[in-house]
Amino acid sequence: MKRNNLHQDTIVIHEGYEDAQHHGSLAVPLYQTSTFSFDNALQGERRFAGEEAGNIYSRLGNPTVSVLEERMTALENGEGALAFGSGMAAVSSILVHLTKAGDHILCSRGIYGCTFGLLGIMKEKYGITHNLIAMNSEEAIEQAITPKTVCIYVETPINPTMELVDLHAVVKVANRHGLRVVVDNTFTSPYLQNPLTIGADFVLHSATKYINGHGDVIAGILVGKDREEMEKIRLTVQKDFGAIMSPFDAWLLLRGLKTLPIRMERHTANAEKLLAYLQSQKLVESIYYPYDMNNPQFSIAQRQMRAGGGLISFTVQGGKQGAQTFMDALELIKIAVSLGDAETLIQHPATMTHSAVPEQERLEMGITDSLLRLSVGLEHADDLIADLDAAFTTLHQKLVAH
Ligand SMILES: *Cc1c(COP(=O)(O)O)cnc(C)c1O
Repeated sequence: MKRNNLHQDTIVIHEGYEDAQHHGSLAVPLYQTSTFSFDNALQGERRFAGEEAGNIYSRLGNPTVSVLEERMTALENGEGALAFGSGMAAVSSILVHLTKAGDHILCSRGIYGCTFGLLGIMKEKYGITHNLIAMNSEEAIEQAITPKTVCIYVETPINPTMELVDLHAVVKVANRHGLRVVVDNTFTSPYLQNPLTIGADFVLHSATKYINGHGDVIAGILVGKDREEMEKIRLTVQKDFGAIMSPFDAWLLLRGLKTLPIRMERHTANAEKLLAYLQSQKLVESIYYPYDMNNPQFSIAQRQMRAGGGLISFTVQGGKQGAQTFMDALELIKIAVSLGDAETLIQHPATMTHSAVPEQERLEMGITDSLLRLSVGLEHADDLIADLDAAFTTLHQKLVAH
């Protein structure tokens, strides 16, 4: 059977694994080993020389981790993948691979906080500069390119405002200028968006989020469309920096990944129900969700995303105090950063994920004091709505009492 014929729902269960080669073990075995013995000296020599495929040492490759890499390759329509110890290890490895001292990286206006931190280190130590720009037109992207630019690094939807970057526009401009495109696809998962298919060169995930989906692992994945280049990254940046994924984490991820399609469907279905509820709530000022007909970027969402996913941001009346009152009144919904878990999570970007961003900049990014980000989980939507409703009642009482 050819891989291309399989649907994502099947790939997450079967890709990259033959049980007959593992004593018929239906579940992918956990190869919890640091090293692998060779049959003889010549075999060891041949493996080190790259003349014979096979395992050497788990920092260079591990059979459990390899199955996960094969599945992610197929899910993202790539030619190779690397598993990392965290999403940030994937981010730092690809940026180190693509740049040298003095280069320039063009970034979308919103990027993950630690990615921003990493860019600061690269600038200070190696003179690798960057620009953060709103990528809402080809002209805007084109104008920000300098002779030193080597890659375009984007996140879409952007956290936490859910602003979209038009991936087709980014790819078009990048192709005209010979630039590589890296997309952090954490927020949508491969089930909802496949940047490599649109023409990006690399896609990465914090697998901590939807890929694992169970809130019990920190992990990262990088997928590329040039197998040789991916192997080169494995044997240079990844091997020598050592930011690898442990076999046990890969085993947990393989288990979580099996339900990615059905989880994403439920996350989305729940989010749509919560969206309708929030739209009817008088204490909600604005709502940010990609698949919302009122969203001016709805057509971009339809072009590059299969569905809206599980993240909704919204503002409530009463400013920072209103937002905090509302959060504290929730019972089922947990106050926590991270996303993509079975549990519905809420966080306050201004004082949590984006508290390090200077106020002026934060407000320009649309992250006001009353903005909340909801990672809609897998619970029954009615129970979530009842929880939100009780919290709005509390907020209402607080607001009228003042
Ligand atoms: C969480 C996250 C990361 C970082 O991933 P870790 O697994 O925490 O290292 C990067 N990008 C986005 C969009 C994230 O949400």
